[in-house]
Amino acid sequence: MPHTYDPTNIFARILRGEIPNKTVIETDHTLAFHDIRPLAPHHVLVIPKGPYVTFDHFALEATEAERADFVAAIGTVCRDHGIQPGEGGSGYRAISNAGDDGVQEVPHLHMHILSGRMLGRMVAKPTA
Ligand code: AMP
Repeated sequence: MPHTYDPTNIFARILRGEIPNKTVIETDHTLAFHDIRPLAPHHVLVIPKGPYVTFDHFALEATEAERADFVAAIGTVCRDHGIQPGEGGSGYRAISNAGDDGVQEVPHLHMHILSGRMLGRMVAKPTA
């Protein structure tokens, strides 16, 4: 089934300047800003400016320029926060939730970059 992009989602509204955000970096194709409900000392969301719903949607349908810009922006966020393990940083987690099983709240692709504390295991085990 094709992806259907909802232009009323909150990140689309941020991109249109209709609601404020705390910008970390902005490039031609990408915006990074602080998550409004941070789950770690540093919690940044990196989003493409184009209308992509999920990471797979973006990976398969974005232009080469959009993909390169998005990946580079994630690298810039990690570098600027000093969290790169290879550069003496203490690490981070990059997560992109997709769809119902991924518990995606906002239907515009976003990569969470979480850092600044021990983040625990990747996924909580089922309790039942
Ligand atoms: P997800 O569950 O992966 O879709 O995550 C959506 C994220 O967007 C959550 O971590 C929210 O805290 C964050 N969020 C929602 N509205 C805003 C907003 N206006 N500015 C910044 N972050 C937001």
